[in-house]
Amino acid sequence: MAIKIEKKITGYQVVKPEDKTAQATAPAPVSDAAPMAEVIHMHESLERPETLVGSTYKIKSPLFEHALYVTVNDIVLNAGTPHEQRRPFEIFINSKNMDHFQWIVALTRILSAVFRKGGDVTFIVEELKAVFDPRGGYFKAGGIYMPSIVAEIGATIETHMKSIGLIHDPDMSDATRALIAEKRAAYEAAAKKPAPIAAAPTADLSSFTSSDTEASFPPGATLCSKCNTQALVLLDGCQTCLNCGYSKCG
Ligand SMILES: [Zn+2]
Repeated sequence: MAIKIEKKITGYQVVKPEDKTAQATAPAPVSDAAPMAEVIHMHESLERPETLVGSTYKIKSPLFEHALYVTVNDIVLNAGTPHEQRRPFEIFINSKNMDHFQWIVALTRILSAVFRKGGDVTFIVEELKAVFDPRGGYFKAGGIYMPSIVAEIGATIETHMKSIGLIHDPDMSDATRALIAEKRAAYEAAAKKPAPIAAAPTADLSSFTSSDTEASFPPGATLCSKCNTQALVLLDGCQTCLNCGYSKCG
């Protein structure tokens, strides 16, 4: 019997012989209810589509001779329906550096398996970011402390999950934002900087090497234990973070 499809086709699935037998044993559901969008959740039998969309991030660490390129590919579930959702499906990490090849391959395979398993996969970020290198971490541009290269891979996955809407930043209230801006202005006024470097045409070039980020904090700022950013300054006898607003007096 031919079935005429009158609606727009939003997705399709190949029926396999085992699906047919399963269908034959189970009675077909009565379909007089209002048509609803079929929600596809992630599960192990979800087949990889031919094409996936993704993003590639570059990680440059002083602990590594060459840059790492982290690619996260996403699957779009329920495309075109109100339940549309983009989720990470697989991860690849490439580098010229072969010294770390085996653990990187192992890590990416396990991460991809976790992604495909479905459910809440955002826990991965905290797990990876908590890994520290016994040789010591390093500072990224912008003064953010990375305890290890694995932690930076975790931070990269976090960036990606934020970009696809899987993780949301806790909203900083306007009051907190204003307070930080006020504290920063107070600190800068108190510090009475000699002259802005950018204004001097004969400025030393070395001052331009590392600061290519917009989030720069005053020189001499120390590491904030709350947000892991080098943004803690002493203001009126209180250690104050100019990034997250953390403050401790003593
Ligand atoms: Zn902070």
